[in-house]
Amino acid sequence: MDEMKRISTDITVVGGGVIGLAIALRLRADGREVIVIEPNEPGSGASYGNAGTVADYAIIPVGTPSVLRNFLSLILSPDSPLAVRTSALPTLFPWLARFAYESLPHRYRENAGRIAELVSDAASAWMEFASEINASNFLSAKGCLYLYETRKAFKAAGADIELRRSYGVSQELLSAGEVTGLEPRFTGFEGGVFFPNAINLSDPGEVMRLLTSAVKRAGVEFVPASATDILRERSGLRITASAYELRARTVVIAAGAHSRKLAASLGDPVQLDTERGYHIEYDMPGLPIERPVCPTAHGFYFCPMQGRLRVAGLVELGGLTAPGNPRLTQALVRNARRFFPELGAPSRCWLGFRPSMPNSVPVIRPSKGGRDVILAFGHGHIGLTLAPRTAQLVSAMLAN
Ligand SMILES: Cc1cc2nc3c(=O)[nH]c(=O)nc-3n(C[C@H](O)[C@H](O)[C@H](O)COP(=O)(O)OP(=O)(O)OC[C@H]3O[C@@H](n4cnc5c(N)ncnc54)[C@H](O)[C@@H]3O)c2cc1C
Repeated sequence: MDEMKRISTDITVVGGGVIGLAIALRLRADGREVIVIEPNEPGSGASYGNAGTVADYAIIPVGTPSVLRNFLSLILSPDSPLAVRTSALPTLFPWLARFAYESLPHRYRENAGRIAELVSDAASAWMEFASEINASNFLSAKGCLYLYETRKAFKAAGADIELRRSYGVSQELLSAGEVTGLEPRFTGFEGGVFFPNAINLSDPGEVMRLLTSAVKRAGVEFVPASATDILRERSGLRITASAYELRARTVVIAAGAHSRKLAASLGDPVQLDTERGYHIEYDMPGLPIERPVCPTAHGFYFCPMQGRLRVAGLVELGGLTAPGNPRLTQALVRNARRFFPELGAPSRCWLGFRPSMPNSVPVIRPSKGGRDVILAFGHGHIGLTLAPRTAQLVSAMLAN
């Protein structure tokens, strides 16, 4: 007996993270018929566990001349915000080689320029998007703070500060006193940079639930399966997803860090990998901070969330299958206590997978194999920030 469920649609979006969901909502608003394939709870991947910042200032790619110069010492130091799983090194090698190239001065500047173009209107785009999905109450517009512990570190940040200035990013340099004026718990820093336009989401998971509801209300159907094959046929695209067979005129690949294989099968061998990221959370009724604060040497943010303090960040290169590294969670716990000694054991821990390109620039374009497939992944550290903008770009590509 044939138990395959067959569905035909105009557009299939593969992946229901913040990127796939934002695209689905936008295409529905354009009057298109849309189905989302997503095997898990929509929005429960990287889109759930991030630092919640709509980071219109975050134009600096991960690969910079300074990271390249210090790469070995960074991965060998036990307290470093960057770690590499040695077992993953052979598979990672091509990505790392490209990352090294993209960290050269001329590439770093060009990559920053491409990111700047994408993030420039992120804050206003998110305000509009949040109101569309009834999530405005979860947005707080109090900016975001980077902190530097030593004069040397503050001085070393000069190149990034200058580059942001050259792209018109709003930023204010703060003295130690001004830092404490904004966030009284952070004393003893040499200084900081304040990004006044940054917005933060007080509960990314709840916002993902509201986004999913908005997408469903708009009439988008969800197929609870994992897409394993996409084939171009004369009559259109055929997508296999366990017991489902979908036919679509257009497919959007938005499966986050899991997009590489699907893209390659359609003629796009992209160098996508993952930067694994972690968070720990402390339930607490009153929060010790007003806005996201990043002590830059440690590579994480303290994030004020509803009823809890989230400590989110770190980068671990190590693929999609290995379990979480307790050493990195412990590093988060240890470093969080340096600033808030009263913290006990975290209430919960989380590992997630940033979809990362070696140059930190997301892939948002038609497939090289044909305009019937759109690629929308690789947003790395700024996928939450760029979801509304990515949806606009995909909508424009399909309108043409
Ligand atoms: C610790 C951390 C902090 C971060 N902080 C920020 C921040 O402050 N601001 C910011 O802008 N960004 C931040 N990010 C990055 C941001 O979270 C990601 O860039 C973004 O969530 C990526 O969204 P996505 O939809 O591409 O991926 P995901 O949210 O991972 O969604 C991909 C979805 O595709 C599904 N999928 C996978 N394979 C298949 C398949 N074969 N078929 C169907 N579905 C499939 C998955 O189940 C998943 O739901 C952070 C990330 C981390 C890890």
